[in-house]
Amino acid sequence: MDTENRTVPFECRRCWHVWEEDFIVLTETDRHGHDNEFWTLHGVRVPPPSAEASCVRCGCQQVTTFPSGYLRRHPEVVRQGEPVAPDASLLRSPAPPRPFYL
Ligand SMILES: [Zn+2]
Repeated sequence: MDTENRTVPFECRRCWHVWEEDFIVLTETDRHGHDNEFWTLHGVRVPPPSAEASCVRCGCQQVTTFPSGYLRRHPEVVRQGEPVAPDASLLRSPAPPRPFYL
């Protein structure tokens, strides 16, 4: 079984935050000669990175992935500046509160 470190860049389509995650990919060749990849993140098996990931800043589920190592070749993609402060307002349910005795 081969082990490979892959750094995958992500970009959020809502807040345009760019970040990278370091995966470890285990490659195993089965008895038919097919390579099977198993992706792990922080020691936990995860699905391969895809556009279904969530933004680490705003939670939006519309993100884009780039090929491994893309940000090293294109540092202009990473925006410089102060990070955006998180929204301090409380999350509220759209349902009206029920009376306490029900
Ligand atoms: Zn975002």
